Amino acid sequence: PEVPVGAIVAGAAARWGERVAYRHHDRQLTFTEVYRAACRFANALRANGIAPGDTVAIHAPNCLAYPVAYYGIQLAGATFVPANPLLPPADLAAQLADSGAVAAVTFGKAAQTLAAIQDRTAVRLVVTVGDDFDEFHAGQPETPPDVPIDVHRALAHLAYTGGTTGRSKGVELPHRNIVVNALQYTLWNNGTVPVVDPAGGLTLDQVGSADEWPVRLGTGVIINLTPWFHAMGIISGVNMSMLTGTTVALQDGFEPRRYLAEAERLRITSIGGAPALFAGLVACPDLATRDLSSVRTLGSGAAPMPHETTRALHDRFPDATIVEGYGLTEVTLIATGGPAFRSGIRKPGTVGVPVPGTEVKIVDADGEPLPAGEKGEVCVRGPQVMPRYHNRPEETDATLVDGWLHTGDIGVLDEDGYLSIVDRKKDMLLYKGYNVYPRELEELLMAQPGVRQAAVVGRHRTDVGELPVAFVVRTDEAVTDESLLAAVNDNVLPYKRIRELYFVDEIPVSAAGKVLKRELRARL
Ligand code: ATP
Repeated sequence: PEVPVGAIVAGAAARWGERVAYRHHDRQLTFTEVYRAACRFANALRANGIAPGDTVAIHAPNCLAYPVAYYGIQLAGATFVPANPLLPPADLAAQLADSGAVAAVTFGKAAQTLAAIQDRTAVRLVVTVGDDFDEFHAGQPETPPDVPIDVHRALAHLAYTGGTTGRSKGVELPHRNIVVNALQYTLWNNGTVPVVDPAGGLTLDQVGSADEWPVRLGTGVIINLTPWFHAMGIISGVNMSMLTGTTVALQDGFEPRRYLAEAERLRITSIGGAPALFAGLVACPDLATRDLSSVRTLGSGAAPMPHETTRALHDRFPDATIVEGYGLTEVTLIATGGPAFRSGIRKPGTVGVPVPGTEVKIVDADGEPLPAGEKGEVCVRGPQVMPRYHNRPEETDATLVDGWLHTGDIGVLDEDGYLSIVDRKKDMLLYKGYNVYPRELEELLMAQPGVRQAAVVGRHRTDVGELPVAFVVRTDEAVTDESLLAAVNDNVLPYKRIRELYFVDEIPVSAAGKVLKRELRARL
C-alpha cells in the first residue's frame, strides 16, 4: 500500500487501542497512548520550526519515549536519524554532520556527549528525555499535522550501517521501503495481508488457519533487547510489533537469568535477536528449568548463528519454529528468512528464502550469475533496497548495479532457492591463491566441547598471503590449544589450517552483536 510510516502507528491505535504496546520497569503505554503522544510530538516539532524533509536524530537507548519521538518524526514528515548513544564524541559529530540533522532527542549520559559536540553539527533543537521531553509536546493537538508525504521519495529514515568493517555509511530509506519491509516480514511470520482503513491507518488481516501460524495477531509478547538505532530493532521491535499488536517489554542490558525469569513471568511468545542472545541463553542453566511453554517462534539475524546453538535450541523448543533471517541496512532490514509457519527448523544452517517480492542471485567476480551450489557474492533486488547511500555517489555506483544491490557477503543458493551465508567478502582470507572462509573454521571450533565462542582472522605474511589465527573463549580450562588445533586441522584441507590460537576472556562485538574482526586484527 502507498502509505507513509505514520499509517502504522495510526492503524495500531485503531486496531489494538487499549492493549499494552510497551512496558519498561513499572511504566507502560497502550497503542492509543503511543499514537496520541506521537501526534503531540509531531505538532511540537512543527511548532518549533521543523519542516517536512528536515532531519531529526534520536540519540538514546531504548526507552518508552523512543517510539513516541520516532512516530512523531514520521507524522511530521521529517526524517529519522538513529544515532547509537554509545558512539564516541568524534564519531557522533561526524555522523550528525553527515546527516544534516537539525534537531535531536537525547537521554541520560548520551545528552552530555551530544552537548560536547553540538557546535560541530547543524543541530539547533535538543529535547532531553527525563528533562524537557514531556513538557516539549504537552498540550499539543492529538491529531497528526497535515503534511503531504511522497512515499517513494521522502526519506523516513537516514540509517547508518553497523560500522563492523569500517566507517558507518548513511543509507537513504524512503517511507515505501520501511512499510514494505515491515509487511514482507509479517507476511512471512504471521500470514497476513495489509489493509488500509478509511482514516488512512495501516492494519493487517490474518489469513490461513489458526494453527498454521505460530503467533496470532494481537496476542504476541516479546522482550526487546535489540537497540532501536539498528535496523533490526526499529523495523522488527517497533514497526512490526505495532503492525501485529505485539506487546514489547524493555529490559536494560542482557543478563540471561533475568531475561529468562521475565520471559516466564510475561509468558513471551517469541525470542528474537542476534546470535549472542541465543548463545547466552543456551549457556544458562535456567533455560532448562524455566516454564517457557508460551514461546512459539525463535528468530535470529544480524550475524551467523553457530550450528551448535541452533541444535541446542531445537532440543529445548522442539515444537517452536526456529528461523534465521538475513539482511543489511541497505535493504532496510530483511532480504531472506522463514517462512515461519509450522514448527521445526527450516533447512538448518541456511538463512531461508527471499521474502516476498525479493530476488536473490549469486555472482562471480565479474558480476556474472552463478548456478545453484556455487559460492559467490550475494546480490539482492526488491522494493526494500535503498535507492542510494547518503553523500557517497561513488559507493552507490559500486554497490547498486542495474537495480541489484551487491551486498559484500559471500553466499550460496541451493536447488530449492535457500540461501546460506558463507562469510563476508572482506573477512575472507587469501592463502597462496586459495580462498579460506574463517566461518568454516569458527564452526569447527565452536562444535568442540568447552568452547563458547571463536573468531578467526588473518595474519598477513608477504610471501604467502594470510594465515588463519583463532581467538577462542573457553568455558572449560581443561581445553588446550593443542587439542583444539588438532580437532580442527585434522578435518580441513592443509591450506585452511589454523596456525595460531589464543584464549581470550571475550571477543569484541558491536552494539548490534557482530564480531569486530578489525579489533582482533589490530591485536595481531
Ligand atoms: P558496515 O557495512 O558498516 O561494515 P555492517 O555490515 O555490520 O556494517 P549492517 O547493515 O548492520 O552493517 O549488517 C549487515 C551485515 O550483517 C550483512 O552484510 C552480513 O554480513 C551480516 N548478517 C546479517 N544477517 C546475517 C546472518 N543471518 N548470517 C550471517 N551474516 C549476517
